[in-house]
Amino acid sequence: MDDKAKELIFEAEKNIKLVTDILELEKVRIKYLGKKGKITQILRNLGKYPEDERPAIGKLLNEARETIKKTMEKRRDEIVAVNLENKIKAEDVDVTLPGKRPPTGARHPVNMVYDELEHIFAHLGFEIVEGPDIELDYNNFEALNVPRNHPSRDIQDTFYITDDLVLRTHTTCVDIRIMKTRKPPIRAIIPGKVYRSDASDPSHLPVFHQLDGLIVDESITFRDLKGVLAMFAHEFFGFDTDVRFRPSYFPFTEPSAEMDVSCIICHGTGCRLCKNTGWLEILGSGLLHPKVLREVGYDPQQVSGLAFGMGIDRVTMLKYGIDDIRLLAENDMAFNRQFIHVW
Ligand SMILES: [Zn+2]
Repeated sequence: MDDKAKELIFEAEKNIKLVTDILELEKVRIKYLGKKGKITQILRNLGKYPEDERPAIGKLLNEARETIKKTMEKRRDEIVAVNLENKIKAEDVDVTLPGKRPPTGARHPVNMVYDELEHIFAHLGFEIVEGPDIELDYNNFEALNVPRNHPSRDIQDTFYITDDLVLRTHTTCVDIRIMKTRKPPIRAIIPGKVYRSDASDPSHLPVFHQLDGLIVDESITFRDLKGVLAMFAHEFFGFDTDVRFRPSYFPFTEPSAEMDVSCIICHGTGCRLCKNTGWLEILGSGLLHPKVLREVGYDPQQVSGLAFGMGIDRVTMLKYGIDDIRLLAENDMAFNRQFIHVW
């Protein structure tokens, strides 16, 4: 029996040494020490041996079991240590490798233009005022001299929420909110989203961005209007930019004018962008209509004002050479990322 026990120990230790993971080790344990394991089987059949030999055999087998157990524990510790070492190696940080840059977003070009415009007008003494996207029909139309059956309401296809509530079609409605609650002098710009029931195409979106400007004071004239807007055009498009004013019509201003800037591509000689005119239409403007001043409770004899409004998306497209307004709404990161370094 002595030899048999030695043989068992030898065989088990050989198997244990070959094992490289904990699961295999458990199999070996079951093979020798489990309920049906080799040693347990002999111990169970101890009755077959002569009675006087049994204690010695039992002792030998118990010793063999302890030896195998110890060898297994040692092997288990070795496997755990190797596994840990491999894991650490796998997670090892090589500080000499270049870092992985986490993906970052980019500022939207429309936002960048907003910032730039706000910066320019803040330097000219304008404060920034915002208003709600859902607006009273009164503020959006009526108070701006566009009564209910006015033909110009057909031009602006409006999203009506109720008979009296609309999604604002321009940020000019905030002019009314400001004037109704304040006394002149007023000098404000109003940035924000506006809504028109337009189908989207390369130059139209149902939701787009505007920036309106408003100055009200004692003797505001067309000269102030031209001065402020020319200064803006030079700051935004460059100091070599020419501006021109063309007579126009808006219900809430009189006189009204549209401002063009010399084409930023061809500088006046004519190209595809300016349709060979040499000029780009930038904004609408005018002096506040006396009716509007009276509507908000001002005396047109005492105060006068000017207002202007521009499409931010259009200005953004001109500034960055974007030829389809829908690109500004798609939020495609490949598109937006181009502007990371522009700012
Ligand atoms: Zn041009």
